[in-house]
Amino acid sequence: MENREKKRLVVLGGGESGFGSAVLAKVKGYDVFLSDFGTLSDKYRRLLEEWEIPYEEGRHTPELILGATEVVKSPGIPDKAAIVQAVRERGIPVISEIELAGRYNRAKTVCITGSNGKTTTTTLTYEILRQAGLKVGLAGNIGRSFAFQVATEDYDWYVIELSSFQLDGMFDFRVDVAVLMNITPDHLDRYNYRMQNYADSKFRIIRNQGPEQRFIYCADDPVTCENLSRHELPMQRLPFSAREGFPDGGACLEAGLLKARIGDGRGFEMPVDDLKIKGIHNTYNAMAAALAALCAGVDGACIVDTLRTFSGVEHRLEAVREVNGVLYVNDSKATNVDSVWYALESMTRPVVWIAGGTDKGNDYEPLYDFARKKVKVLVCMGLDNRKLTDAFGDKVPVLYDTASLDEAMEAVERTAEPGDVVLLSPACASFDLFRNYEDRGRRFKEKVNALGEKTEEGE
Ligand code: ADP
Repeated sequence: MENREKKRLVVLGGGESGFGSAVLAKVKGYDVFLSDFGTLSDKYRRLLEEWEIPYEEGRHTPELILGATEVVKSPGIPDKAAIVQAVRERGIPVISEIELAGRYNRAKTVCITGSNGKTTTTTLTYEILRQAGLKVGLAGNIGRSFAFQVATEDYDWYVIELSSFQLDGMFDFRVDVAVLMNITPDHLDRYNYRMQNYADSKFRIIRNQGPEQRFIYCADDPVTCENLSRHELPMQRLPFSAREGFPDGGACLEAGLLKARIGDGRGFEMPVDDLKIKGIHNTYNAMAAALAALCAGVDGACIVDTLRTFSGVEHRLEAVREVNGVLYVNDSKATNVDSVWYALESMTRPVVWIAGGTDKGNDYEPLYDFARKKVKVLVCMGLDNRKLTDAFGDKVPVLYDTASLDEAMEAVERTAEPGDVVLLSPACASFDLFRNYEDRGRRFKEKVNALGEKTEEGE
């Protein structure tokens, strides 16, 4: 008799990605079980019950997990976790949510990865496609998971933000339009402190691509360019650069114009100053999004309309308010050195720079030049500021060592003068003083919005 036993799929991790995978597995007829070592949020506990998906929390019970035919691991769980090792020792395949969802997805995909710029480029690409009238879903690290949407929605296109952790568990999935923004040091703790391992992970985005697929990448990024020669590249390549032009398709800057064109001859040009998001990093983000949208068939004029109005994503160089002639900018998402480099690069006023938090093994050297030229005051905000004070003590005219947002804002108020910009761009994770980078950015904005205007008579 035919063996009609269901495949058992175990999902490790009960956040957005794990929950979505479990729902998709259930809809597709798997015997599914979800296990979370921590505490589930009320939202996902309730949703798992509504979807009648069996789960456990606060533990991983080997008997319930090790009989799986396949395991979906949430991106937050490191490979060295004991349960993941036990699963692998038994030869059970471990895949990511994206791999699972890719098996059932019928829509075309734009997938965006990189060390920095993923969320901005993903959101912008999605906005362009949506405003062009395409039936498009936004997925990955932003909003609802890809797996959940594959289970419950019917789109023609998905724009998906992919972290390297999602890419690590991707094997057969083929991306239609792959976008690689840049590769700079980040998360090296998860890659045995080897930059090559991290770069290899990012390059998994072009796995399985053939002549019909597209690869959009930054030709100005040295690590990306070094790694191109290590891969077969049968797909159509669309580089973008702030310098050179690409006759076979790509995007570039020439005489103040942003130009983009793909292989079929379609394209557009616009003055780069018409981009609403500012800074060279955002020009890169706009070029990548524009090329992806051209690949999705969107008309050049339509792309230009959205590029003129898209104002960026919260916590990324977000102009909060100008008060008493001082502009306050929230760049709380700048949790590594490279993103701060671009923040400082784009500043045109004297900078009162708030930085600090949980260090991720930072090397601050790339910031020294900007610190000398642009920063008038550095306000270190963290429980342990030694590394920052050592690095910048002799490079900025004034430095404050503070251990809370209140203290940092007092230092800011004492020193910021009309014409300055106060930039929260920490280069560090937020966990010493805040719940996460959103909490840090939101609380900074609350403080800024509570600042009073000084009147002529006021003291
Ligand atoms: P990600 O999703 O990759 O973290 P975000 O779009 O959220 O990227 O931006 C994170 C930080 O990096 C922000 O401080 C932002 O200003 C900066 N940033 C945005 N785009 C780029 C880019 N292309 N290169 C370098 N830094 C960038």
